[in-house]
Amino acid sequence: MIYFDNNATTQIDECVFEAMSPFLKTMYGNPSSVHRLGRIAKSAIEIAREQVASLIDAPASQIIFTSGGTEANNLALNALPFNQLAISGTEHSSIFEPANRCENVNVIPVNAGGIIESRSIDELIENRPDFVSIMLANNETGVIQSIAEIAKQFREHGIVFHADAVQAVGKIPVSFSELGVQMLSLSSHKIYGPKGCGALVIDKSLKINPLLLGGGQEKNQRSGTENVAAIVGFGKAAELAKSELEFRHVTMFELRTLLESELEKLPRVTIFAKNTPRLPNTVLFGIDKIEGEWVLLTLDQKGICVSSGSACASEGKEPSQVLLAMGVLPEQAKTAIRVSLSHHNTTAEVLQFIEIIKSFGV
Ligand code: PLP
Repeated sequence: MIYFDNNATTQIDECVFEAMSPFLKTMYGNPSSVHRLGRIAKSAIEIAREQVASLIDAPASQIIFTSGGTEANNLALNALPFNQLAISGTEHSSIFEPANRCENVNVIPVNAGGIIESRSIDELIENRPDFVSIMLANNETGVIQSIAEIAKQFREHGIVFHADAVQAVGKIPVSFSELGVQMLSLSSHKIYGPKGCGALVIDKSLKINPLLLGGGQEKNQRSGTENVAAIVGFGKAAELAKSELEFRHVTMFELRTLLESELEKLPRVTIFAKNTPRLPNTVLFGIDKIEGEWVLLTLDQKGICVSSGSACASEGKEPSQVLLAMGVLPEQAKTAIRVSLSHHNTTAEVLQFIEIIKSFGV
């Protein structure tokens, strides 16, 4: 099998699995318990908090563990009272859907390359939003926004700024302090950690409204008995992502360069957002007049896992909202196929993939 769907999820790292294992077997204490087993669990969580904080250059005290990126995004959007919300037109559904429940929402346009232009930010500021959410890197195209630049402008206007960094973390350097946002969402399973675990990083100046009320865990910001094993796994995955970041980046970038140079030789292939700064592992492309859904299913029969647009959208037949927001026509948007690489992939896998794509007569 060839796994080219690493933006959907990643294979759990063996070291992560090993780190988690005792907390699923013998170290089963509740971190809120004062006895020995409870204290062991609590200190394991605090170590994981340090590991995650170190990956994104944030104080550990500002990390709140959640059940994943979706919860982190929902928590961010519900954290503070605001009058006027703005989100980009290419956000993940875990931002789009909660935003849909809000009354005054501006959608910030992107250009044909998937980028928010500075004049759109200037226009947005004139509308006086008090809360804005823009993703750092897009899950479908891999397009990276200039979050630090935008954050500087928002700070000058007192606008609270949240960024979804779920796809960026572990693939490119991400520093909470350098980005200058007030909130940042993370997810464990995108960085070779377990599913069902993530975090929201919150600036210490903010006092947030929790989504979940109860026992007051996570400093009253996210109640519920902690998923200790998953948090430990997330911490280990973060530690590995930090130490291997350079190697992973270079490996994925070289594979992507090969993949794109081969795809570009095929006359019916279009690579979306080709000339925009993107994640080193992501290629979204289409083959003229062939539906992405058909390509996905045909590749699956040959043991190759890819995605057509976002994983969540691939059950539906609707064209990618991200591509539509970039001005791509629905017919062409329906051709989209996403390859998202990992440092575990090889040159041989990329070449085999290309041969199969060629066999479609493109
Ligand atoms: N944000 C982005 C950009 C994502 O790609 C995803 C998952 O695909 C999420 C948020 C949701 O994260 P999780 O799967 O941990 O809920």
